[in-house]
This record gives sequence, structure tokens and C-alpha cells, in this order.
Amino acid sequence: MTETYRGSVGYDHLLSRSDAPLEGPGTLELRDGIVAAIVPDAGGPGVRRNRLVLPALSNVHDHGRGMRTLAFGALDDALEIWLTRLGLEPMADPYLRAVVAFGRMAESGIGILNHCHNTQDVRQLEAEAAAVKRAANAVGVRVAFAVPLLGANPVAYGDPAALYARLPEAEARLLGQRAAGIPAFDDQLAVAESLFDLQDDLFSVQYGPVAPQWVDDATLRRVAERSALHGRRIHMHLLETRLQREWADAVYPRGLLHHLDEIGLLSPRLTVAHGTHLTAAECELLAERGVSVSVNASSNLRLRSGIAPVADFVASGVKFGLGLDGMSFDDDEDGLREMRLIWHLNRGFGVNDILSRERLLQAVFFDGRDAILGPGSAMPLGPGSPADLMVVDTARISRDVIPGRAGILDLLLTRATKADVDDLWVAGRRIVRNGTLASLPLAALEAEFTDRARHAARAVDWPSLDRIAQATRQYYGCGCHTGRATMPGICTADPR
Ligand SMILES: [Zn+2]
Repeated sequence: MTETYRGSVGYDHLLSRSDAPLEGPGTLELRDGIVAAIVPDAGGPGVRRNRLVLPALSNVHDHGRGMRTLAFGALDDALEIWLTRLGLEPMADPYLRAVVAFGRMAESGIGILNHCHNTQDVRQLEAEAAAVKRAANAVGVRVAFAVPLLGANPVAYGDPAALYARLPEAEARLLGQRAAGIPAFDDQLAVAESLFDLQDDLFSVQYGPVAPQWVDDATLRRVAERSALHGRRIHMHLLETRLQREWADAVYPRGLLHHLDEIGLLSPRLTVAHGTHLTAAECELLAERGVSVSVNASSNLRLRSGIAPVADFVASGVKFGLGLDGMSFDDDEDGLREMRLIWHLNRGFGVNDILSRERLLQAVFFDGRDAILGPGSAMPLGPGSPADLMVVDTARISRDVIPGRAGILDLLLTRATKADVDDLWVAGRRIVRNGTLASLPLAALEAEFTDRARHAARAVDWPSLDRIAQATRQYYGCGCHTGRATMPGICTADPR
């Protein structure tokens, strides 16, 4: 395995930083997990062609489910409706589940990722975390594991009575029971503390309060304290949907962000996912506190959440990165296409320049890494930097171009997909070779995983699920989650 620690990567073009032109041609010499040297070369005919080297992609927010949610029947819809079907995921071996997810991401050029863990069996969280770590190490990617903390508002944002009232009694009872199985926050925190022992060079652990609407204030406060005390990172969903915004405005009249700030949660140790419904003033506050955001553009479209206010991130200086959230645009974990989506959605229309190309590259290739591993982790790709890099084969994207008419970055932003990712190196180990995962036989693992999932999938009571979805739609549609609409005769009695 000497090649784990040594290697040479030749290139025609190298993106070493976001604010400088591409360099090249040359060769990167990799030793002991870092870039030891850059050797410029004259290139010349017949040396090498079509190789663009970039920092490995960072996926700032994901859940590492090997089975895509659509595949098990959680169809794209509003997040709150989609969640009513998330429980359809078949039980799976936690190692296989993570290894398939991480392997697919690696083939897309993702070398660094946040894994917001969703337990399949909450009593097995420790075993699941250990399995995820084994999967991360086997694939060879850097993973930040966010330990889930959840339990508040388990059925709906706000009082579930108005939801129960819209359902047959048996279904209402079932929803209530599901909520009752969640362990106490104290116990969850105790498990979280023990999981920090799993950390090593490639695997880090973070507090993962799932979102303000799903965690009680006392727990958020304790997480903030412990994060400050130990310097540990926190990863949390925040204001993903309009309904969450309405809930937050109703519950925190002085402002949810103001509240989170008061309890000390807003710091450079925090990364929030989505932030789709942040206001400009809230972005200013996040920027002041050094909080990072994961922009999950595809997920926000597929789950009907909206478009994140990237213009406000840019104006205020909030750092952000790219997150696939297990919901990429074509359901194929394509990080380069995701970058293009962020670009087109936020570049600005007409001649109104909002997101510059430099700022996009800074976000995707540098700030995203900091959002996962902590400030100061990202550095220019060159001598002394971690050997985390991807090689994009530019032959396909440039095959019809008249020489000199379109630059490599123009082509990358407009055309490149995971199909063009040739190699991925993480910590000096070449884990993807010629577009295929080299560390493990991914195709065979995927086949085994899918086969097992089909066998594990149980019969589904679709009419019942449809009733729950319909009741949920009505509950939120009339504003029950804000508490204001829960009036006798309107929300609790009529709809049944
Ligand atoms: Zn998520």
C-alpha cells in the first residue's frame, strides 16, 4: 500500500485558490497525506492532456443513506409531507448503508463530508456510529459525524392535537406512540459524549441538535456550553421551510436567531443547514458570529422549500458551502452539477451581478471544507496542504470547443458532471481511479445493499399513509403549527 502515502498527479490546469488564475502545467508530488511539492513542467506535445486538478469537493450536509429516499417511497414533496413517509426506509446494515452512500459521493469527487446521522434504531446509535466510521475509513473519505439530538415536537411543529383530530383514532394513537419511543435528551447527550472517543484523523464527531423545532431549549443551551468548553463543532438544520419560519416567529416573538445568540449557540463552531428562510438581518448576525451555512439547492427545490438567500450571504459575508442532503438534482449525488445549480440560481439575472465566479469557487472548494472540519482547515492547494484533490478529465467537456474560445473554468461550470471525475485523492490515498471507486467494489456492494433492502421492505398501508399526509397538509395549510389557528370548531373539530 505504498501508493497510499506517495503519488504524483500531473495536470494541465490546477485550481489552487479561488482568487487566482489556473496554474499549469505541472505535477503535484504527494507524500504522507500532504502535497510535498509542485513541480512545474513545460507540458509540450504528448506529455499529458485534459487534466484539471481541483481541491476535493466538500459536501457540507448529508445523511449518508445508501438507499435514496425516492427508492423506498418517500416521494418528493414539501418537507413536512415527505417526512411522513421517511419511516418507510427498510432496515439495513449500518455499515453497508453508509459505505454505499460514501462510495457514491467519492465517485462524484466528494472527499470531505458531513454525515447528519439518522438512526434506524435509536437504541443502537453507538453501534451505528461505529459502523459509519468503519465505512468512512473503508471508502477513505473524511467524515464529520453529527450525533442526532431530537425529541421536541416529534409529530408536528406545535400542538399535535389539531393533527390527531383530523385522523381516525387508531392512526392518531400510532403517531403518538412513535413519538413516545424517543429517549430523554439527557440520555441522548450522554451517548453523544461517549461518541467523541471515536474521533481520529479522518473521522470527527459533532453535536447534531437536529433543528430548533425538534430540540428543547435546555438541550440547545447545554450543547452551546459544551461546544464552547471543548471546542467541539455543532451541526444543525435551520429555517429550512416556510412553515418552520412561521413556527419560529410564533414561538420566539423576539426572534429565533436572537434567542440562539443569547444562549451562545451562534459561533464559528456552528454550521447550519439550509437557512432557506433567513432574513437579511439574520444573515448579518450569522456573519458577525462566524456561523457557516450549507446551501442545499437541489434539496430545497425537491422538497419545495425555496431558494436560499445567497445574495444576503454574499452581502453580509456569511460563509457557505455546498450540501447535497441526499437529494441531488438528478438523484445521483452529483457534486459538480450541484455547483452549477448554485451558480445559475444565484449568479444574478440580467447584468445584476450577485454571486461572482470567485465567490462560488471559494464557497464550493474552500469555505465548505471549513464548514465541515472547522475554520482554518481549508488552504490553497499546494505545498503543505492536505492531499485532498480531484482530477477532472476535460476531454468530454471541451471536445467541440474552438481552441482559445472558452476557458476550462467556463466549461467546468457549464458542462462538468460526475462522469468527468477521473481520480479522487484523500489524505494522499487514491480512492477513485478512472472514475471508479478503487478502495472498495462499489457496484457489488450497491447490488447487495439494494437486494437486501428489497427483501427487508415490509408491506405498506398506503391508504393510511395518504390519510396522514392529507391531515398533515391540512394542519399546516390552516396554520395550526403557529398556535393561532387552533380554535375550537375550526381546527380541532371540523375537518374530520
Ligand atoms: Zn438534512
